[in-house]
Amino acid sequence: MRRFAAVLLIINLFVPSWVFAADDTPLVGYAPRSGQAERDWEAKFRAIPDPANLREYMRRLSARPHHVGSPYDKDNAEWILARFKEWGLDAHIETFDVLFPTPKVRVLEMIEPTKFTAKLEEPALAIDPTSNQKSEQLPTYNAYSIDGDVTAPLVFVNYGLPEDYEKLDRLGISVKGAIVIAKYYHSWRGVKPKVAAEHGAIGCLIYSEPKDDGYTRDDVFPQGPMRNRDGVQRGSVMDFASASPGDPLTPGVGATPDAKRLSLKEAKSITKIPVLPISYGDAQPLLAALQGPMAPDEWRGTLPIPYHVGPGPAKVHLKVEFNWDIKPVNDVIAKIPGSVAPDEWIIRGNHHDAWVNGAEDPVSAQVALLEEARALGTLVKQGWKPRRTIIYAAWDGEEPMLLGSTEWVEAHADELRQHAAVYLNTDGNDRGFLEMGGSHSLEQFINGVARDIEDPESKLTVWQRLQLAKIAQAKSADDRKELRQRPDLRIAALGSGTDFTGFLDHIGVATLDLGYGGEDEQGIYHSIYDDFYWYTHFSDSDFVYGRALSQTVGTAVMRLADAEVLPFDFVDFADTVQKYNKDLAKLLSDKQEEIRERNQELEEGVFKATLDPRRPTVAPKKEDVPPHLNFAPMENAAESLTRSADHYRQALQHRQSALGQADAETLGSLNQQLIESERKLTNDDGLPRRPWYKHLLYAPGIYSGYGVKTVPGVREGIEQKKYAEAEQEIARVAKALEDESALIESAAQLLERAAH
Ligand SMILES: [Zn+2]
Repeated sequence: MRRFAAVLLIINLFVPSWVFAADDTPLVGYAPRSGQAERDWEAKFRAIPDPANLREYMRRLSARPHHVGSPYDKDNAEWILARFKEWGLDAHIETFDVLFPTPKVRVLEMIEPTKFTAKLEEPALAIDPTSNQKSEQLPTYNAYSIDGDVTAPLVFVNYGLPEDYEKLDRLGISVKGAIVIAKYYHSWRGVKPKVAAEHGAIGCLIYSEPKDDGYTRDDVFPQGPMRNRDGVQRGSVMDFASASPGDPLTPGVGATPDAKRLSLKEAKSITKIPVLPISYGDAQPLLAALQGPMAPDEWRGTLPIPYHVGPGPAKVHLKVEFNWDIKPVNDVIAKIPGSVAPDEWIIRGNHHDAWVNGAEDPVSAQVALLEEARALGTLVKQGWKPRRTIIYAAWDGEEPMLLGSTEWVEAHADELRQHAAVYLNTDGNDRGFLEMGGSHSLEQFINGVARDIEDPESKLTVWQRLQLAKIAQAKSADDRKELRQRPDLRIAALGSGTDFTGFLDHIGVATLDLGYGGEDEQGIYHSIYDDFYWYTHFSDSDFVYGRALSQTVGTAVMRLADAEVLPFDFVDFADTVQKYNKDLAKLLSDKQEEIRERNQELEEGVFKATLDPRRPTVAPKKEDVPPHLNFAPMENAAESLTRSADHYRQALQHRQSALGQADAETLGSLNQQLIESERKLTNDDGLPRRPWYKHLLYAPGIYSGYGVKTVPGVREGIEQKKYAEAEQEIARVAKALEDESALIESAAQLLERAAH
């Protein structure tokens, strides 16, 4: 998964005369001599990944459809296992048994005012050799939609987000008893049926609008990279954000053979109403048959029809039934044991299953992972001994909703709590700019890695290229100033949509999520056209960004695995927390201002005065202005965090040269405290109404899905008008930040004692 509508960066890169040179500043967490040895090993490593291998792995892994439970999914797992072993890694397959529904019946027809039967079929194309593997392809569907047979008038609901229903209220339109049709994007797809059901709809269609990933943006496949008339986005609609990801029948525990399983009825993450994804070829006649008010301007797409909202006269019959089978997921796990600190784990993962052939998602980044493993195996043969244990994981079952990684995390939760230092994830790779997301205690670290990787197109470092691209895109002078002056580029906070979720949100393992992209548009996501032909014509066709990804993530893995002191830094982290506090205060004051203004307009009669009797609308209701919230506990905690973060950074800078003399035991305790630093941000009780999510700073949004909600308890409390709850969450977050600050302070003192 992990795709959003691609954002194309249009920039003019000026290439200065200084040529590419890897940074040679001292590595954070390394004594001088070991830092130099590390740089030598890393340079050897980066010379190994080969685009020709990446291409060949992709050809092999994407040659046939390989979704969960399919023959080629198993075949790929065994092939990956054999490669890990061939390269000298200690590898095995770990299998879990999970609920994975596949379609039995799919019917969509319009019965009024005219008859139309949807095709629900992506045709094979002669030029694209794997698109004709019909007998192995999963039909187009949304996994974990409930079975259903419904007939009702249709209503167009834009992207199907809560604010779209507020607009519908203003138009005087209810979806109660209706089937809704929503556009893909602007939220994770599972949010659309969830919100529709909350408003009383009885069925949900989701279509790919050409304005978002079709002909409006570029030529359609096979002439171009975009979604064609019949292309459909498959995908999961499991309500993972309000319940949990992974197997719906075994929440919180590994789906091993003897695990206690819920019945299908008890499973919380299955949708409440039937859902089906469709192409714009199938959507157009339905939308064209709608009447009622015109859709608001920004709702309209680029099909050659007037976009009405409905309801009706289009009346639709939707019937879906699924085989609710238990299927195996095969995670391939490979290890390089640590030589000094084998109980500290650096874990690196990417999924191998796809919806169909999946050349871009996930194979384009899976091949980078494989090439890293081959290169690390080569270094081990040459005498490289990583200090910590390195675990490489090729996850299965990511597409249905993070099944393989979540079950593995749940099955190994106790070990992970003790040993997992960092998890590094990728999921798909294209041409362009380095995309960095993760825990902010690793912001400085990953900026350092990005300064050592050469960009294949500009020959700048990928860090320089990213910095200049961000300057070109920046919206304000302040943003540009920060980009020029702040030593580290800010990394994104992580929501969900890929395999880091269990590590970060459930256990509290510091996480990085990386990939290249931004130069090519794409409209083949989760369709039969995401295949080797598409990728080698429209994306990183010479695999040089695949090599860059191998170099980036492999360098990060090595540098984390070898440092005497784990290269965590808390100054950027504290700065980020300060920023979140300001964001939250502004969110509340904007909300207060918005409601105050609306109430005043109601009193002034603005809505009555502007009413068009031919196009009647409904005035909004008067609302209470949100109360004042006391953010002081979080602000105080952020202040003490800033002080301890500064102290720790200074301590490390002053003592780094003496790290070579530090005794192993003290270093062990120090690293254990650093590993704990992300756990401290979790709370065993979890977030309000979703106890599986334990991280207090990062979570997927209940109504955004993949999109992150930072400080989710407080933020969603304000957004959902639960102000008393937001106030309680402020106290919980402040307490966690105070504990974090104390831990960092104690690490600084330990460091001063260890190395002097
Ligand atoms: Zn993926």
